[in-house]
Amino acid sequence: MNHKIRPMIRVRNLSKTYVVGEEKAEALKGISLDIFQGEICCIFGTSGSGKSTLLNLLAGMERPTSGEVWIRGRRISQMNEEELAVFRQKYIGFIFQSYHLFPFMTAVENTAMPLMFQGVPRKKREEIAVQMLKKVGLSHRLMHYPWQMSGGQQQRAGIARAFASRPEVIFADEPTGNLDSKTTKEIMEMITGFARGYHQTIVMVTHDPEMEQYAHRVIRLVDGVIVGNERRFQGKKEET
Ligand code: ADP
Ligand code: MG
Repeated sequence: MNHKIRPMIRVRNLSKTYVVGEEKAEALKGISLDIFQGEICCIFGTSGSGKSTLLNLLAGMERPTSGEVWIRGRRISQMNEEELAVFRQKYIGFIFQSYHLFPFMTAVENTAMPLMFQGVPRKKREEIAVQMLKKVGLSHRLMHYPWQMSGGQQQRAGIARAFASRPEVIFADEPTGNLDSKTTKEIMEMITGFARGYHQTIVMVTHDPEMEQYAHRVIRLVDGVIVGNERRFQGKKEET
């Protein structure tokens, strides 16, 4: 297979059913999709449609009930915990709605964290972290702890952390869900700008309809099923 046209993310018949007591929730019902390198892919859907479940399965944070996920040609749905952890550290970044910064670490320490797992020496990783924090506009908050920063600032640190190790794929689950509209625009432009600059693949869950203008692919979920998958080229739609 030609490496250039091989999808970065390949999903086949992916299902996830949660069982809580007697209740069953079919969060995903047999989803298939391909996402290619360098694509900015947005996932839209109402609350409960399965967006977070899909992202968590793609990022290897949860196991599917059935079906398969490949990332860069590796079948992550078959990896054991240790292989998955190594794979995630090497290739995947994640941006959370509620930031998930470590409360007892400064902005620099939080940002440098993923580089530690990659074996980058302390001095070098702090250098990279400071550079990243400058790029996200936090040069005046380097030694601040999360509780000393606004939501927007915490998310900037979250972005610095996700991009610090230049992972090939970044997942973002409603990254601006807790932010005002001005900050949302700044954060979205930051994420998409980095992704384009480094030719990274982004899969983002969002409620922000403005994101459609940045997206190369728009996926719509309803009740655990994909009801729309449009590839966009210079503002025009092409159905795939
Ligand atoms: P979204 O992110 O689109 O709001 P989710 O993926 O979080 O949706 O949830 C999809 C469905 O799966 C919902 O019905 C939700 O209640 C259910 N669900 C999600 N996570 C769990 C869980 N850990 N245990 C049980 N049910 C869950
Ligand atoms: Mg969600």
